[in-house]
Amino acid sequence: MSERKRVLITGAAGFLGSHLCDRFIKEGYHVIGMDNLITGSLSNIEHLFKLEQFEFYHHDVSKFVFVPGKLDYILHFASPASPIDYLKIPIQTLKVGSLGTHNLLGLARAKKARMLIASTSEVYGDPNVHPQNEDYWGNVNPIGPRGVYDEAKRFQEAITMAYHTYHQLETRIIRIFNTYGPRMRLDDGRALPAFMGQALRGQDITVFGDGSQTRSFCYVDDLVEGIYRLLLSDYANPVNIGNPDEITIKQFAEEIIALTGTKQKIIYNPLPTDDPKQRRPDITRAKEILGWEPKVQRKEGLKITFDYFKNLPEFK
Ligand code: UDP
Repeated sequence: MSERKRVLITGAAGFLGSHLCDRFIKEGYHVIGMDNLITGSLSNIEHLFKLEQFEFYHHDVSKFVFVPGKLDYILHFASPASPIDYLKIPIQTLKVGSLGTHNLLGLARAKKARMLIASTSEVYGDPNVHPQNEDYWGNVNPIGPRGVYDEAKRFQEAITMAYHTYHQLETRIIRIFNTYGPRMRLDDGRALPAFMGQALRGQDITVFGDGSQTRSFCYVDDLVEGIYRLLLSDYANPVNIGNPDEITIKQFAEEIIALTGTKQKIIYNPLPTDDPKQRRPDITRAKEILGWEPKVQRKEGLKITFDYFKNLPEFK
């Protein structure tokens, strides 16, 4: 039997990290998960602990990272990823994107591994160009509340590119747009878990601002497919992965009200500072280079996600 390929996934206990662990296990890899569990939860990966092709390190990648044995791939998905999380832990957010990325690039070099980093549509900030393609440089406020995340991710792209050009390291950069699905944290403050949690608890639905700001929501399985294809491609420049189906937050709240059957109403709260007014990925590059496009319609994805939340112990 040929030896399994070995992949290190940081942020393994988080929303995206845990789905990636599942996918790579399914593809026959040996998966090494790493997480410091600040925002992740072991419940997302506990089903993997019984497998001999899975191992887990409880570790903060901002500190020196050691993994014994060979590594073929590193996927860096560790980071707080929601605005309320990075407001609560701004320094850790900066460190995991900067120091953490540097440590992992060093590890990738030592192991001759290919490294994929999870970048974000936040590198475009509150965009002046719509939809956003990869050549747009962005409109980011470095010292605003989102700056700790946005600038860490921009630095992450810069240092990853530097390792690619200076050290000839094999690197991949994915820019992830809003993604949703089972295993999101109900209290992470983002629109979808906030609205579904409110519907399940019989609370009013909190739309920020007048709800005219837009987002484009991608179902997690589609995103994971895009990541998998990008990792195995030979393309080193950034690639947007997201669903271009754009919707206002007010419409999104109304869809969730209809789906959940809640009798609650929408209430309007102040818009957070620097909240992007519009966001939609231009996915031409992903289509051309990866032959990828999203398949799951919002209606279907929202239903699967709501079923997941409904079945959490809190609501049984
Ligand atoms: N939002 C909202 N109510 C909430 C949480 C979020 O109206 O309870 C809005 C938020 O202001 C933003 C949009 O929904 O305009 C998406 O927010 P999220 O935090 O999900 O993602 P991001 O802003 O990072 O795209």
